[in-house]
Amino acid sequence: MDKSRMEQYHSLFERMIRCMTDRENFDRNEFVQILKDLSILFRLSKGVTEFYRSESAEKSGDGEIMIDYDTGKKDHPVIQKRILSKSKSVIISTLYMADEEPPLEKDELNKLDLILSALVSFIARNRFETSTEMLGYYDDDNYPNLRFFKRYLETLISGHNISGKTMLCFNLRNFSGINQDIGRDGGDIALRNYFETLKSAAGDDGMICRIGGDNFAMAFSREYTDEILHILSGFPVIYDPNGKNRVLISASAGIYDIPDDNPPTNPGEVIGAIYTALLTAKHNPETPFIYYDQKMIATREKAAQVQLLFPKALENNEFRVFYQPKVDIESGRIMGAEALCRWFRDGQMIPPGEFIPVLEQSPDICRLDFHILDLVCRDIRRWLDAEMPVVRVSVNLSRKHLADVDLQKHILDIIDSHRIPHQYIEIELTETATEVGFRALKRVAGELQDNGFCISVDDFGMGYSSLNLIREIPWNVLKIDRCFLPTDSDDENSSTSLMYGHVISMALDLGLECVTEGVETPKQVEILKKNNCRFAQGFYFDKPLSVEEFEDRISRGYYRIDTKNDRIFK
Ligand code: C2E
Ligand code: MG
Ligand code: MG
Repeated sequence: MDKSRMEQYHSLFERMIRCMTDRENFDRNEFVQILKDLSILFRLSKGVTEFYRSESAEKSGDGEIMIDYDTGKKDHPVIQKRILSKSKSVIISTLYMADEEPPLEKDELNKLDLILSALVSFIARNRFETSTEMLGYYDDDNYPNLRFFKRYLETLISGHNISGKTMLCFNLRNFSGINQDIGRDGGDIALRNYFETLKSAAGDDGMICRIGGDNFAMAFSREYTDEILHILSGFPVIYDPNGKNRVLISASAGIYDIPDDNPPTNPGEVIGAIYTALLTAKHNPETPFIYYDQKMIATREKAAQVQLLFPKALENNEFRVFYQPKVDIESGRIMGAEALCRWFRDGQMIPPGEFIPVLEQSPDICRLDFHILDLVCRDIRRWLDAEMPVVRVSVNLSRKHLADVDLQKHILDIIDSHRIPHQYIEIELTETATEVGFRALKRVAGELQDNGFCISVDDFGMGYSSLNLIREIPWNVLKIDRCFLPTDSDDENSSTSLMYGHVISMALDLGLECVTEGVETPKQVEILKKNNCRFAQGFYFDKPLSVEEFEDRISRGYYRIDTKNDRIFK
């Protein structure tokens, strides 16, 4: 062994013994890391520990095998230790070396022998305690688990030490994308380093645990909040064993600042609070950190109410379709309409903002969308039968449908049961942030188009719009979100005005039909004209209308557009 390896060995061995003897402060993660480092130092490929309840169990091979370390290489055993504990159970530890490695020198073998003896007797002593602790309070990757968190909370609550603490639950942003970029092994290292960074930021009386997948919970004294939020908002961590490359990890979090008066009285309250706040944070990409408060309780109750009432409401036909005209601004003609859902309950109209986002958290939204499609088809059938004028109607399909491999069939079943010619139906789909979502979107859009339906990208510009989205998917219509439309106070050179112009000209070059949403003023109609966007939807023409009002509009056929005046003539 050369001098530097010798020094490393001494330092690791000393740390290992310190870990084993200081049982009060035993840090399992540190211990596991020391054993790993020792294995690397001695060029080992694998470490295996076997436990047998008795010698006869050992003879019949009826025991438990734990692989402590494994490089997966083809290997052979180099050293083994067996001890019989006071309780007559048998523990055998074996170390392996890869076939391709040059053999260990005598001096190395002696050192390994020493390490292994210490280790096996330590395991024998702690076997019982450690294994129950490990089974109950740590997950398969050696992260403390939810039970660990609950036990910690119970101790805080019973000791009246919970006031002044901040509790938090976080979810890594786009961690599956990171795993794809740097590989699973890299992802594991990065995750561990991120965890350790947060753990040290949480202070001596803080804690952090993994509650599953890439969800974690933390507790710490209030004064550490800024530092921890700084790390959660984006922190570079090393992801390779050489410590050379770093990746930026960030998270969304739900936070509960424990009040000094009226603190929670059981762990469930804390966990419910941070989890609710996290769910809200995950749905709001612009606000990754959300604090739990009274308003959130009210929102949560409202959401629960929506979920509860939905099935009956669907059965009782409480959902209706409103139609918002889409107008050709050159002629004032109604060229289409968007079907928008409204919920009527006890004579009151509930706007979609209050129930769509709730239903979108479950497959309920798909049932609603199919119901709306069915209602639209009924109306179109009626118009056709009565020989009334008919325009193409667009229906919104939630992203939740993308997971449905039979989506095409479900849609066709509805439309064909009413014998609706496919050119009267347009399907509005929204962008998606993930690669998987993108592939599904491409498949669904292609299938719909193959069946002769018009397909449009809804709310373009609002979320994760990418040029790829319009290049790779053969859309018919681009619906430009109103956040892209300049307002009356924007001047011609504002970035919104420039972007708007460019998006339209790009879409037209690609042969897409462009509809601008949210057109409210005559000046905005002028902006559309100037930028060659021929189709508009918005309050300037009409709000979403009841079917009777819409039928009335469409029978009259067109709007007289007079952008000099502030109102519209119909
Ligand atoms: P969306 O698909 O982007 O629909 C357009 C929304 O913009 C409608 O809101 C419409 O009333 C509103 N809007 C239209 N013109 C103007 C305007 O000039 N100014 C302003 N400020 N707003 C305008 P609505 O009806 O409240 O619907 C909101 C969202 O709810 C829709 O956005 C859509 O994403 C969703 N939604 C509505 N019905 C359904 C449905 O049946 N299924 C699904 N999945 N989503 C639906
Ligand atoms: Mg829409
Ligand atoms: Mg829209």
